[in-house]
Amino acid sequence: MATSPMPETLFRHALDHDEFRLAYQPIVDLRTRRQIGVEALIRWPGADVGPDIFIPIAEQIGLIREITQRVCDLAARDCRAVPTAISQLSINLSAADIQAADTVDMLRALQDTTGGRLRLSVELTERSLLDPERCGPVIKALRAMDIQVVIDDFGTGYANLQALLMLELDGIKIDRSLSQRIGTSPAASLVIHHLCALARALGLSIVAEGVETETQAGLLYGQGIRRAQGWLFGHPQPIEHWAGMRRPAHSGRSTAPADPPFRIGGGADMPPGAFRRAAP
Ligand code: C2E
Ligand code: CA
Ligand code: CA
Repeated sequence: MATSPMPETLFRHALDHDEFRLAYQPIVDLRTRRQIGVEALIRWPGADVGPDIFIPIAEQIGLIREITQRVCDLAARDCRAVPTAISQLSINLSAADIQAADTVDMLRALQDTTGGRLRLSVELTERSLLDPERCGPVIKALRAMDIQVVIDDFGTGYANLQALLMLELDGIKIDRSLSQRIGTSPAASLVIHHLCALARALGLSIVAEGVETETQAGLLYGQGIRRAQGWLFGHPQPIEHWAGMRRPAHSGRSTAPADPPFRIGGGADMPPGAFRRAAP
């Protein structure tokens, strides 16, 4: 009976054969609906599973550093191929990345490929920040390079207030499990209200993730949230999709009425794009 290949063999094959790709999902200004940045999300088109499944496996078997290096290389390649597509890019990092000094070099190389035109953010889960002393030096070095450091999936359970207080961070992303329940779950609405107050008190930016409906967008806006991401504004899409689609970010305060919605990549009724989603 044939045995299936070990995960390490599959990852190695995928790395050696350049199988990974990136999809980019817009982050928008909730009022103008204009794109203010994109988040890079890794895709493995030949695999039946999404990154929510294969990234934890790569972390467990010690290959996440190589995957993160590949993500930076792919982002650099995409930015060179379509130089006007992206001006602000968020990259997801794992716990091992934020404790490793050479992550700073990886991100500097990515910054350098665009001659400094690319503004970078890194997204870290609360879990990665459980040991603030070990991740503090890399966070400090990244911020010194003008790279923003944001806590991802905020409000999903680890609620690492110690990290918020001990580390110098730039923002939080409110997890979609909360964004999607605003207005339907009084508890979720209350938690969002208090997270926003906390973020504001600490001078942190806020992005709401996983926004799928106009109702959610309106209620989040009512909580003072000005930036959001989700299928309402656009699915993750390959770089080719972005060529020529970026508009300049809206700058300054304005009392003008909101622009008509600018839905990059379609609305919530569009299929999730060119890449396969994670198997249920
Ligand atoms: P994440 O960083 O929280 O990314 C957001 C996830 O929500 C993405 O799933 C995105 O496709 C999905 N999403 C975005 N908008 C909506 C929406 O409106 N509704 C719903 N239901 N989902 C939405 P994806 O791409 O499958 O990624 C899953 C997770 O895998 C990411 O969660 C992140 O933790 C991890 N991941 C993805 N790419 C990378 C990477 O390059 N490096 C690392 N370390 N982790 C990654
Ligand atoms: Ca993220
Ligand atoms: Ca997230």
